[in-house]
Amino acid sequence: TGKFFVGGNWKANGTKESVKKLVAELNDIKFEDDVDVVVAPPFIYLDMVLNSLTKRIEVSAQNSWVGKGGAFTGEISAEQLADLGVGWVILGHSERRHVLGEKDEFIGKKAAYALSKGVKVMACVGELLEEREAGKTFEVVFQQLKAYADEVPSWTDVVIAYEPVWAIGTGKVATPQQAQEVHEAIRGWLVDNVSPEASAQTRIIYGGSVNAGNCAELAKKEDIDGFLVGGASLKGPDFGTICNSVT
Ligand code: 13P
Repeated sequence: TGKFFVGGNWKANGTKESVKKLVAELNDIKFEDDVDVVVAPPFIYLDMVLNSLTKRIEVSAQNSWVGKGGAFTGEISAEQLADLGVGWVILGHSERRHVLGEKDEFIGKKAAYALSKGVKVMACVGELLEEREAGKTFEVVFQQLKAYADEVPSWTDVVIAYEPVWAIGTGKVATPQQAQEVHEAIRGWLVDNVSPEASAQTRIIYGGSVNAGNCAELAKKEDIDGFLVGGASLKGPDFGTICNSVT
C-alpha cells in the first residue's frame, strides 16, 4: 500500500490564538520522509492555516456540500475548497452521521462531487458500539463502503478512515488486533467489490483515541496505513510523534 498517512481532525476546536500556536508547533516538527501529513482545521481557519504552514503539510476541510455551490446557507462547496487551495476533505465522519444525521447515499454523493473538483477524500466508516456487540461490524462497514463505491469513479484519491464510533473521543482505543481485523476485512471487500489494484493501493487508516502512547503498536499492523487523529492532533508534539510512528 501507499505511503503512511496521518490526518489531524481539529473538529470545532480552536481560536485564532490557539490555531496560531498549533501551526507554530507543527512548523517545528521534523517529519519522517515517508509519511503524508494532513491537518483539518475548521473552515474559518483554513485560509490562515494554509498561509502560515511552512512545512510540507497538506490541508483538509472537515465537510463539503454535496454538489455545486449556490443557495445552500451555511454550506461550503468543493469548488470553493479547491479555489482556496484546500486539497482534501473529510467525509462521512461519525459526528456528521450520528449527530447531524447524514446518510450513506448523501455521503457517497459528496465524495464523488469533491473528487470531481479535484479535492481528495478521507472517507470515514465505522460501527456503533451496539452494532459491534450485535456482531454487525463488518455488515455496517461494508454497507458504508458500498455507498462510496456506488458513487466514486476511482479510488485513487481516496483514503479510507476506519473509525469505530465507540473509540472516538472516549479514550477506548481499539486494540491493534481489533483494528487490524476490520482493516483486513476492508482490504478484502475492496478486492471483491472494486478491484485488486484499489485494494492494494488504497490506504486504510485508523481513528479513535489514537495518542502518542498507543500509535506505535497500532502502526505495526499490516493493514493499518496511518491514522486519523482527533484530540491528540491539537497538541503539536503529540501529533508529531503519531506522524513519525510510521514503520
Ligand atoms: P479522537 O482521536 O479524539 O478519539 O477522535 C478521532 C476522530 O474522530 C478523528 O476523526
